[in-house]
Amino acid sequence: MNEKGQSMSESEGRNFVSELRAGIGESGPVWVARDPVNTAMIRHWCDAMEDHNPVYTDPEAAASSIHQGIVAPPAMLMAWAMRGLEPPEANASEARDPGSGVYRALDTAGYTSVVATNSEHDYLRYLRPGDELHSTQTLEDVSEEKKTGLGIGHFVTTRTEYRDQTGEPVGRMLFRILKFRPGTGRGAAPSASGGEALSAPPMRPEPGISRDTEFFWQGLEAGELRIQKCAGCSLLHHPPMVRCPGCGSYDFGWTCSSGRGTVYSHVEPVHPKFPAFGPPYVVGLVELAEGTRLLTNIVDVHPAGVQVGMPVELVIRRQNSERPLPFFRPIRPERRTTTLGSASIRVGDGLPACPIPITATLIVSTAIASRDYQDVHHDRELAIERGSPDIFMNILTTSGLCARYVTDWAGPEAVVKRLSIRLGVPNYPHDTMTMSGSVRAAKAGRVEVDIRGYNRIGDHVTGSVELEVPPEPAS
Ligand code: ZN
Repeated sequence: MNEKGQSMSESEGRNFVSELRAGIGESGPVWVARDPVNTAMIRHWCDAMEDHNPVYTDPEAAASSIHQGIVAPPAMLMAWAMRGLEPPEANASEARDPGSGVYRALDTAGYTSVVATNSEHDYLRYLRPGDELHSTQTLEDVSEEKKTGLGIGHFVTTRTEYRDQTGEPVGRMLFRILKFRPGTGRGAAPSASGGEALSAPPMRPEPGISRDTEFFWQGLEAGELRIQKCAGCSLLHHPPMVRCPGCGSYDFGWTCSSGRGTVYSHVEPVHPKFPAFGPPYVVGLVELAEGTRLLTNIVDVHPAGVQVGMPVELVIRRQNSERPLPFFRPIRPERRTTTLGSASIRVGDGLPACPIPITATLIVSTAIASRDYQDVHHDRELAIERGSPDIFMNILTTSGLCARYVTDWAGPEAVVKRLSIRLGVPNYPHDTMTMSGSVRAAKAGRVEVDIRGYNRIGDHVTGSVELEVPPEPAS
């Protein structure tokens, strides 16, 4: 084998790949999960993922559901069998997994960086507290050396079978990672993705403020969205006027908006470019709950995710501006509490867009809730050292959020049978991933939903979720 980091000759490369591929089809020893399925870990996961489906955490609701008791979120499958902080060499069982052998060989050859790219889960049944998970890993494939955006490396695919304490199969997972040489990718500099947040864009132009509009700007300084209100007839106006078009009065006060509204109309200006505003950016006309409209920017969402009628909320920010400005962002759709019946689901039905703010808290708490202690998911300095602009979300969390999105739409008793995802660009802090989806197939209680989660760099996740729903709505 070659010295670390150096490239190999063609024949050396061929030999190396055939060595890596020698273990294809081999299985490792049975690994028994360190803890049985338990409500403490389930609650931790649901807290971190903000998944409020009562079948996971509410004993009473779970007892009266089709599950007849608490079940674990299906996407936790892999989390139960995670090995914790113990280094792999200290763990005889993991050391004998065929995948681990390939990872070690790739590390030695200089492919030291790792990123998960695909995950396919099949859920044969939901796990319950007390279940003891036994897993066996099989090496499925090792690719030739590939040039990818992240760097030059090999894709390694493993398949894991999960059984319970009685030997009954409960799930399967296909997992693909890319092991690559750090610094060999496109735009190896972190600026390619995180730079947007780091370099300061030019400032927005200052508004002209008059005696008639002063209250509006003062309101924003105080964290309020003030709407002009006629003292004579109570009509609301925005932008503020000098004389009421309703009653002719010159006497005005103002009222505080609740900050809730819906998108009445929107446009994504493309040309000419104004660096202070984007790109991309969305100009939206928001109809406030109070009944007047306001021209603003719709933020924290990719332009493709903005829809007429979409509920939005006020967010006041100094977004490259001297003064605070009123923006609007999508609101997480409400979780359905009565499960959709299959009769009411049609191919082509769209799922409401769901924004998920990507915070450091979300990334770290979900990584730990999924027992994934890889430094790139919680330690910013080490993540930067590895060539990433910041910490980023792990694939178990992406799986959990995709499952949450689809079950929040379909209802608490929709049963996830399959979750297949492919990762694109990372989810870094200070961004928002917006989930969208549509029904691809619906037949005999089985529903297949295409899903997509994008952030301001691009698609973070694409994939599909298969569900079983009851014929009639169920509560
Ligand atoms: Zn009036």
